Amino acid sequence: MKNKGLLVVVSGPSGAGKGTICKRLLEKNNDIKISVSTTTRGARVGEVEGKNYFFVSKNEFQDMLKQDALLEYAKVYDNYYGTPKKYVLENLERGNDVLLEIDIVGALQVKEKFKDGVFIFILPPSLEELKNRIVGRGTESAKDIEKRYGCALEEIEQVIKYDYAVINDDIERATIDVEGIIKAEKCKVSRIHEDIKSIFY
Ligand code: 5GP
Repeated sequence: MKNKGLLVVVSGPSGAGKGTICKRLLEKNNDIKISVSTTTRGARVGEVEGKNYFFVSKNEFQDMLKQDALLEYAKVYDNYYGTPKKYVLENLERGNDVLLEIDIVGALQVKEKFKDGVFIFILPPSLEELKNRIVGRGTESAKDIEKRYGCALEEIEQVIKYDYAVINDDIERATIDVEGIIKAEKCKVSRIHEDIKSIFY
């Protein structure tokens, strides 16, 4: 029997760099599967359906909720976001590691259901730097920038509910830190009991 895959949940305030870290992590580790979320937010320029998100209407999102098709969901900055359940469960069952890049409200729902998931929080080096990054990204309106920055302090306080925190002052180093966390978790005796058994039988 194969060990189950590892569920890795990455959160952090907007502008902390979690998206970039996850992207690098996937480029370096072909065997990690990323869960594509569903959202009622409109697509930004350059975003691709099925790659960045599954873009749906509010009604379609409600239908998914009714069908119990989402592992978790949250309303983030006026839009709904949720993790399609089937993809995550199937991959974990097959022994594949699955990465979720989701907000804190959603992450805490996942934590209730997956006690052995790994929960990683990405922090900016400072609040000033956080604001510079959100502004510098150029994807949000001035109103949205204020909203995202305004939520950041409250969000950062939630770091204590996570297993690990990585300060993103250097994207390369932060990615290596996240990789290290995943590697260490995968060596935990409690996770690799099937591999250990196979040594003897
Ligand atoms: P953005 O609009 O910048 O793509 O994402 C806004 C926030 O929604 C980010 O904090 C992102 O991590 C979060 N998010 C993306 N997908 C999901 C999801 O499936 N569930 C939850 N709870 N949050 C998500």
